[in-house]
Amino acid sequence: MIIQLPQNVANQIAAGEVVQRPASIVKELLENSIDAGAMSITLKVLDGGQTLIQVIDDGIGMDAEDAVKSFLRHATSKIRTADDLYNLHTFGFRGEALASISSVSEVEMRTRRAGDMVGVQVNINGGSVPQVTEVSTAKGTNIVIKNIFFNTPARRKFLKSVQQENKHIMYEFERVALVNPDVEFQLIIDNRAPLKYAPSNLHQRIVMLTNKTLGNKLLPIEANSPIVRISGYIAEPSASKKKLGEQYFFVNGRFMRNPYLAKAVEQGFGKLLPQETYPSFFIYIEVEPSRVDVNIHPTKSEVKFEEEAAIFQIISSAIRQTLGKHNILPAIDFDN
Ligand code: ADP
Ligand code: MG
Repeated sequence: MIIQLPQNVANQIAAGEVVQRPASIVKELLENSIDAGAMSITLKVLDGGQTLIQVIDDGIGMDAEDAVKSFLRHATSKIRTADDLYNLHTFGFRGEALASISSVSEVEMRTRRAGDMVGVQVNINGGSVPQVTEVSTAKGTNIVIKNIFFNTPARRKFLKSVQQENKHIMYEFERVALVNPDVEFQLIIDNRAPLKYAPSNLHQRIVMLTNKTLGNKLLPIEANSPIVRISGYIAEPSASKKKLGEQYFFVNGRFMRNPYLAKAVEQGFGKLLPQETYPSFFIYIEVEPSRVDVNIHPTKSEVKFEEEAAIFQIISSAIRQTLGKHNILPAIDFDN
């Protein structure tokens, strides 16, 4: 006999894709805050996110009806039709994150729109029916996720050490902070002193996030063509690393892995790159949303776009140009 699974079971299954680890929750919540137009975001985590993940933003907030609906599967304010999928201007669009997260954790969300006198608080425990109360709260959204995977012990067992999970959380945090340098961030990990990232420009933000090691070694790159706009920074060859270091591509603000385009960067550096080292770069690719498909992977770290070969050429020549302009000479390799 076939039955259609109840919503909370379906959500828990979907959560297997969306919530791989605490860092996946951090990514989804930070992106929601950005989509909500937040200019100031605080992220707090305890025990590698296992005990608690909290994100506080000063974005547009929600009214009571939307606050409850936001936890429904495939419920989103960001797209309306299938056509919108090819014209995305937000991080989110699946309407799956909050449904998935709330099916495998304990969630408390407080939210208020600027024009509303009172806010709303929604509590959900592992996909339970939402409990809704009025609450006085700051404008924006304050969401707390507790005890991840408390109701899926098999998955909880796969969580790595606090240190490991924190590392992944930092990766996600950095990726969001690197595309929104004008947004202020505060990061509080366990009982450590808060890390503050003031609103600034991209150069400053990169320096702040890379522990200042790249300070005066960043060179701007830029290219414009009818199909693509490239901007960002590369690190001087002398700052290249023995290990795959800081290699960031963002397509329309989305972080992506792209070994193919990483080769374009290496080719651009050519012989200037010391042997067996990898360049550091922060490259922002902007294409018309209709020319990229971000829909191919649930966690969206792979992006497929048209004209990849042309973009390869544009990136590598932009890098050659920058290196030429700054008179970078081949690094002396003292190992030889
Ligand atoms: P998606 O981001 O794909 O739309 P989510 O499950 O992440 O799906 O969120 C569902 C909806 O809840 C969003 O479309 C948005 O309308 C609302 N929402 C979520 N987080 C916030 C937030 N921090 N501020 C304002 N609205 C939010
Ligand atoms: Mg979202």
